[in-house]
Amino acid sequence: MSIEIWHGDITELDVDAIVNAANETLLGGGGVDGAIHRAAGPGLLAECCQLPELRPGVRCPTGEVRATGGHALPARHVFHTVGPVWRDGRHDEAALLANCYWQSLRLAERMELQSIAFPAISCGVYGYPLHQAADIAVTETLTWRKSHTRPLRIILVAYNAAAFKIYQQALNRSGQIDSSGGSSALMQGLAAAT
Ligand code: ADP
Repeated sequence: MSIEIWHGDITELDVDAIVNAANETLLGGGGVDGAIHRAAGPGLLAECCQLPELRPGVRCPTGEVRATGGHALPARHVFHTVGPVWRDGRHDEAALLANCYWQSLRLAERMELQSIAFPAISCGVYGYPLHQAADIAVTETLTWRKSHTRPLRIILVAYNAAAFKIYQQALNRSGQIDSSGGSSALMQGLAAAT
């Protein structure tokens, strides 16, 4: 199993699932959500509107995830997850953000997917400090990897060079980058992303 950092636009990735940083309505928005809906085409919104969990007035709770097809995207599925809005770090933001990663990985495993890509959930309009969010993304994915075999590829997508560097630093802090066996996948991931 490998964990990679990739610099670019998540909508271009040919993977089993890309994760969308959605809002509670799952009816589209700005940022990565808007980019995913534009690239997927109108079928994605139509499917979101039909989700049985989203009866009128019912919203997707923060930290949870819902799956749809990828429509016109290269990705086969879109996992819509709702990240926390950053307030001051004392309103359960870290646990809620960790849950977005964990629930998405659980769903990928249940659906027997091989690859999944995450944007920096909550780090745009929702204001989560990227350094802290990157630590959570790395910790959750590495913890998952210790006890699960699927999905084989986990990709953390950095939308710009600054974000890429922050993810690299988070991986460094996790102590997982060295020359010993278990970490070689991380090294490959970093190499692939440069
Ligand atoms: P949130 O509302 O959860 O904060 P945003 O969409 O505003 O979500 O931002 C989440 C992150 O996604 C930000 O770090 C932003 O730079 C990044 N992002 C925006 N567009 C894309 C894209 N096309 N591919 C990958 N990441 C993106």
